[in-house]
Amino acid sequence: MSVLMIFVDGIGIGGNDPDTNPFARARTKRLQAACGRLDRPELRAGALVIPTDATLGVDGLPQSASGQTTLLTGINAARQVGRHVHGFCTRALAGILDGVSLFARVRRGGGNATFANAYTPEFFRGERRFLSVTTVAMKQAGLPFRNLDDLARGEAVFHDITNRDLRERGHEIPFVHPEEAGRRLARLALTHDFTMYEHFQTDQAGHARDMNKAVFLLEQLDLLLDGVLGVSDPDKLLVVVASDHGNVEDLTIRTHTRNPVPTMLWGTGREVVAGRIHTLADIAPALLRYLRARGAINGSDLA
Ligand SMILES: [Zn+2]
Repeated sequence: MSVLMIFVDGIGIGGNDPDTNPFARARTKRLQAACGRLDRPELRAGALVIPTDATLGVDGLPQSASGQTTLLTGINAARQVGRHVHGFCTRALAGILDGVSLFARVRRGGGNATFANAYTPEFFRGERRFLSVTTVAMKQAGLPFRNLDDLARGEAVFHDITNRDLRERGHEIPFVHPEEAGRRLARLALTHDFTMYEHFQTDQAGHARDMNKAVFLLEQLDLLLDGVLGVSDPDKLLVVVASDHGNVEDLTIRTHTRNPVPTMLWGTGREVVAGRIHTLADIAPALLRYLRARGAINGSDLA
């Protein structure tokens, strides 16, 4: 029994208006389910969609670093530090993450966890000054990072899904069709108890208010999901799409939104897990409880 969490930065549940919401315009099979206002969990296009609060009871616009820390730990990081924290991981957030992220807890429970994203040589040379929340959580958990060799072997996925960005930067990595990237992700997930994949270009498209780019990214993401779901046995893999805050669903503004985010679930166990999710802080505990109940990890370390 495995869990694959596909984290997509900056997607909220917005109005069903193709002039302002790329979800309403993109031709998607899976992600269509996330479009339009939802007040309660609903089964759409095979996905259980849970409108999930990302404001965490804290004033102002929800931001990535505190949202992602909350998502990975089940601790309301925005409330703990007194504000929404944007961008990269801070020292305070690293303190919250340490020892209690999904990566750390799955590992401690005897399970194997991995981050599917491939990192570039610049990262391994220590040239990155600012680290993402996921990167810090992986480091703290002592887990190895995937590199471009893993990517070339089909054992990782780049954050842009197709390797287009890497190729433009001069790396000799073949282009991967988004569906094939999804199949690779599913194969990786089936050999681990917990796998996470992260895509953040959606948030960038939202800040840029770029409708064409946003539609392109959502359609690409949809193909990735189709690839994942096409090869994964729903009895063996629970697939979760989660986000940290709204943004791209409302291109009338350049900022994040306070809209709920769609937590989307496919696979057995989705009803049980969905029943426990109301805010971003509920996702990690719900997944850990599920992995324990299915015997994938042990321990009384209740999230
Ligand atoms: Zn943002």
